Amino acid sequence: MSQPIPNTLPIGGTPQPIHPGALHAHWKKMARKKGFELIARVTDRYHLALRCKCCGELSSTKLFVLMNARPLCPHCLARRRQSRARRAHLRFLRRDPSDTRYGVYKAPCGHELRRQFGFVERIARGEVSHRCETCQHAREQEEAIARGWQLIGPDPEGNHNYRLYRHKEGCGIVTRIARVNMKTGRFDCPQCGECWSAEPSAIYLMRITLAPDKHVVKLGFSRDPESRLLHQLHRVPDLPRQLIKSVPIRSGRQAQRLEKKLHAWLATRFPEGRVPPEEFAHLLKVKSEIYRPELEQPISQKLDRLMRKERRAASRSRTKHRARQVRLRKVRR
Ligand SMILES: [Zn+2]
Ligand SMILES: [Zn+2]
Ligand SMILES: [Zn+2]
Repeated sequence: MSQPIPNTLPIGGTPQPIHPGALHAHWKKMARKKGFELIARVTDRYHLALRCKCCGELSSTKLFVLMNARPLCPHCLARRRQSRARRAHLRFLRRDPSDTRYGVYKAPCGHELRRQFGFVERIARGEVSHRCETCQHAREQEEAIARGWQLIGPDPEGNHNYRLYRHKEGCGIVTRIARVNMKTGRFDCPQCGECWSAEPSAIYLMRITLAPDKHVVKLGFSRDPESRLLHQLHRVPDLPRQLIKSVPIRSGRQAQRLEKKLHAWLATRFPEGRVPPEEFAHLLKVKSEIYRPELEQPISQKLDRLMRKERRAASRSRTKHRARQVRLRKVRR
């Protein structure tokens, strides 16, 4: 033989030693049938180098797999994974070496996600979302902080709707609370009894300066507007902000009802008044309730009227209370 025979074959960038020995006709036939061309025997007597008819790339496959199963071209497979990931708005980074069903992907937020290949297919079809755990955790932590609590972790009892929280700005208790309740604030602390619905509350108006020539106003309700202003709203510590008005309301439940009414009134009266979240989400930990500066005046007037009403209601309930005491004393006599 005058022709020099190369003794290695590069497969996937790695030279594989060519194994001497016959390439049997029935192997070649089987390879053709399964979409490959048999090129050589490599590594040992059990491995074959196959060229994919689809992409032209080489791969090493066990003889057993060729004869008894369906060999897969790893290059075509990787390309399919990439395109599936792209359709799911993810980037395929690598396979998970600990489990063949999983891959590691980069999410649009920049975090790495470990997901089943089948799940990514479902994301690509639009059936589910990729749900980044890191971002989700940050969101839930912000919700908790806004209520004076701290997210500790998942529910120790395994209920997906619950989380473990610490009453950070209160009694310090660590307890399970439904996440939806933390989000809306509709729960009472089981230890200190800090109760949002029955405790006195307030509706407030704040002015926040987003940029030197741009300020907005926030309307909301809170048991403690001062603390909300100082500790809970902002993402940057020195964001200029001030409390313009705070109207004491008899109870949290009443404050929530009145606040809702005010937002509805603003939405009808000033449909252009609401500031879209893109303009403040990087500076404030709130999703809505932010209005253009022109609305400061009308909101402030509404709050003045509300303050008078609440005072009247409070004095009425005091009069009623005294009258009841008098009646009771008479009955006892
Ligand atoms: Zn291929
Ligand atoms: Zn993320
Ligand atoms: Zn507490």
